[in-house]
Amino acid sequence: MTAQATQVDIIIVGAGIAGLTLVNLLAKQGKSLAVVDRVLPPKFDREQPCDVRVTAVSPGSRAIFEHIGIWPQVQAKRTSAFDAMVVWDAASSAEIHFCAREIRQSVLGYIVENKAILSSLHEPLREVPGVHWYVPGSVTDIVHRDDGIEAILENKQLLRAKLLVGADGSRSGVRGLAEIPYAEKPYLQQGIVANVQTEFSHQRTAWQRFLKTGPLALLPVGSDKKHRECSIVWSADHEYAKQLMQMGEKEFSQEITTASDSRLGKVRLLSERADFPLISGQAGNLVKPRIALVGDAAHTLHPLAGQGANLGLTDVAILADILEHTKRDIGSLRMLRKYERARAGEVQVMQSAMHAFVAVYGSSSKPVVAARSVALSIAEHTPSMKRFFMEHAMGLNRDRPVFAR
Ligand SMILES: Cc1cc2nc3c(=O)[nH]c(=O)nc-3n(C[C@H](O)[C@H](O)[C@H](O)COP(=O)(O)OP(=O)(O)OC[C@H]3O[C@@H](n4cnc5c(N)ncnc54)[C@H](O)[C@@H]3O)c2cc1C
Repeated sequence: MTAQATQVDIIIVGAGIAGLTLVNLLAKQGKSLAVVDRVLPPKFDREQPCDVRVTAVSPGSRAIFEHIGIWPQVQAKRTSAFDAMVVWDAASSAEIHFCAREIRQSVLGYIVENKAILSSLHEPLREVPGVHWYVPGSVTDIVHRDDGIEAILENKQLLRAKLLVGADGSRSGVRGLAEIPYAEKPYLQQGIVANVQTEFSHQRTAWQRFLKTGPLALLPVGSDKKHRECSIVWSADHEYAKQLMQMGEKEFSQEITTASDSRLGKVRLLSERADFPLISGQAGNLVKPRIALVGDAAHTLHPLAGQGANLGLTDVAILADILEHTKRDIGSLRMLRKYERARAGEVQVMQSAMHAFVAVYGSSSKPVVAARSVALSIAEHTPSMKRFFMEHAMGLNRDRPVFAR
């Protein structure tokens, strides 16, 4: 038997970075919301060592958090700003430097623990009367009505709304129930994350070295005053990734030291290691009548540019902006298509760029190595090209809502 229905404006399935940011944006507009997730967002404890899952938050994403009013809380937890980035190639002497000053900015971004973001997004929502939580919960069925949509939860609870948003990650159940096709391309690599201590200061710089087996990034984290704590994101072919996960701590530390070219001196492992399969995925469409997909439910990227969460935050900023300004039915396909059109370009460009990087830097063929060295060298000496890359990666381009720039 189905329990009595709850009526809200919008149902949001998934309370990850994209879902919770959308909940905050829409709660600010006074919309009534039902939030469904299997688990509650995690709590942050300053006494605990750094979380191994971190996100490179772009200035564009910071603007979204500022608009919601949670950025001071995120900063008060633990964030590491970086104002430079160095990318270099293991197979040649080519390297490129990005510096915030070149585009008159004070930072390129912030490395923030995922727990710090999620808990800051969740805290202000606990007392908002229009936000109803269904946790633990998941949607088992979706029913379309003429004037709305219904979601039936595992416990038979019935939710009714004008719009349902799937923010439930790369394995999105909403996407499946809505029968939205999904194209997936595995990179045949695992992403390994861990925290390390370096011998020399990271100099508020994000370091990334392209190895034949995949890129290794060392990103500033933590509150160490000597700037010697980094989060590593190491993308490696399956076989090598398996070896890296099985190595003893000393051997693993030595392996990172060598793989990072000893740029930051000797590296020592500080935390456990976690690994994730790296997959590029794209939903065939982002909307259907009364349904929209955002974040990883809509698209996933290779983490080498640290843009997955930032893309999801742009999704929700644009969707929230369209919903705020529409006088029509907020679930109508015509209105939702505006969101889909607004997102198509950036996501496609980003995915194509990631595929190209992985293919070009995964090759050790001499002509390819020579060509990429020349390309990197040209980019290094072309300020306008560097500015273009930086402005896009930082989310400073103009095709975003004003509050998200
Ligand atoms: C190794 C690695 C490093 C990365 N580094 C960066 C970086 O530096 N910068 C960056 O921008 N991005 C980065 N990313 C990508 C980023 O982590 C993701 O894009 C981002 O977390 C996606 O957020 P989301 O809210 O869309 O989905 P998720 O974080 O996956 O959240 C989905 C939510 O939905 C819930 N859920 C799932 N299924 C159901 C269901 N059936 N019913 C109810 N609830 C459900 C989950 O519990 C979860 O809370 C990285 C990714 C990896 C793998």
